[in-house]
Amino acid sequence: MSIVLVFYLITVLLFIFGLKLLQKPQTARLGNIVSAIGMTIAVIATFFTPYENYLFIFSALIIGSIIGIFLAYWVDMRAIPQFVAILNSFGGAVSALVGIWAFLENRIPEIVNVYQFYISVGFDTFIGTITFVGSIIAFLKLQGIITEKPILIPFKNFINLILLLVSLVSIFAFAIYKYPMLLWIVLISSIILGLTLTLPIGGADMPVLISLLISYAGLSATALGFTFSNYGLIMVGSLVGASGLILTRIMAKAMNRDFWGILLGNITPPEVSKASDDRGYYEGKIKTAAPEEIAMLLDYAKTIAFVPGYGLAVSQAQQIVKELYELLTKDNKEVYFAIHPVAGRMPGHMNVLLAEVDIPYDKLKTLEESNELLPQTDISIVVGANDVVNPLAREKQDSPIYGMPILDVDKSKTVVVIKRSLAPGFSGIVNPLFIGENTIMVFGDAKPVLTEIVRAYKELKV
Ligand code: NDP
Repeated sequence: MSIVLVFYLITVLLFIFGLKLLQKPQTARLGNIVSAIGMTIAVIATFFTPYENYLFIFSALIIGSIIGIFLAYWVDMRAIPQFVAILNSFGGAVSALVGIWAFLENRIPEIVNVYQFYISVGFDTFIGTITFVGSIIAFLKLQGIITEKPILIPFKNFINLILLLVSLVSIFAFAIYKYPMLLWIVLISSIILGLTLTLPIGGADMPVLISLLISYAGLSATALGFTFSNYGLIMVGSLVGASGLILTRIMAKAMNRDFWGILLGNITPPEVSKASDDRGYYEGKIKTAAPEEIAMLLDYAKTIAFVPGYGLAVSQAQQIVKELYELLTKDNKEVYFAIHPVAGRMPGHMNVLLAEVDIPYDKLKTLEESNELLPQTDISIVVGANDVVNPLAREKQDSPIYGMPILDVDKSKTVVVIKRSLAPGFSGIVNPLFIGENTIMVFGDAKPVLTEIVRAYKELKV
């Protein structure tokens, strides 16, 4: 066995071990480190492979690393989903470009069968381009550059089916006849497919789209691995593809979407209504309170749930939440954190923020656990969450979030919602929770509001 293969094997073992560690928040950080070591070994292995231009590889490595380090420090936590989308697009673009380059330069490795080469070049181009175009659309939507609302395409399923057939037939014809024109047909139909699969996906379904694109990026890497018979790429690409699919399943379940429908780009329910017109919806129906009053309510409560959402990340209020959590538990109150799988803007967003401030892991409750606890909870404090606590998901069939399991905070005895205004969440719809009988709104940025509540609570104790 060649030294390169040994390196690749070690890489894959470390990746598998890293993935295993990523399953639990307690070991996730170690999982990241283990996987990063695996990646470093794979990069080192590249230098043991015969190439013509080491200087070129080395320069690309240094430039890429500098940009990567700069971006990792510079990108705000809130922009991580867009960042992930852009990184995914790079993966797709690389697979497609390297595949096309290998064909144009006739770089068929000696060990590779000619048909394997042409078929895998076709698939590199196909999956890589869909990943690239889809990820760019996801980025533009998440960044708000194009509308987050679903862009409906007439006869979408029929068009997708035709494009899929054209691409597959062209890939196999390309392997037989080797006409460059056939590869360009694959390229063009996959660009269009990238658009038709992702433009109809609405903002609320972005978590599912992101995880699906992660899976596509893995598959495009696998296809590239077959082009060059690079076992490292085949194995690692398959791991990414499979874990992306598992994540897609988890996200689909969290949003009550059909997994097979998602694979065909049918994420958004067909009868999506336009975002509700919220003018006047809340007028005269909102009850507000000052932080001091919330501190008094907390003093009387026995069980308290914190319900974090995207606003917690925006406000960077995790530290002050931790302080309030400690004050309350010191007073023998039962406190827990109700975490929705799609709260925030990336899978696991809330777990990451709360782990950052060392909230004990056993206090982080899943959606199912929380929904059992919420009806017996005295106060739910919703910190910058909106869609994940919106009862319309249970009640309104033509709502963009209909069918998404939500945290039933409205069933707790009192609900305190901390947010800056009555502005909607990511899906752009009104939230009846805010006008609920048992709801009190505290308007303001989460961090200063919570700081005031902490101060008032401490004052009650002196
Ligand atoms: P939402 O986007 O529904 O709502 C966040 C709320 O936070 C807003 O209503 C906003 O109201 C408030 N907010 C913003 N900044 C602050 C601040 N500084 N202080 C206090 N409040 C603030 O978030 P959720 O977490 O409830 O739901 C997540 C949504 O994002 C879902 O629709 C999900 O599908 C989607 N999504 C999730 C992804 C994932 O992977 N988790 C990826 C992409 C999208 P106001 O402006 O009035 O303060």
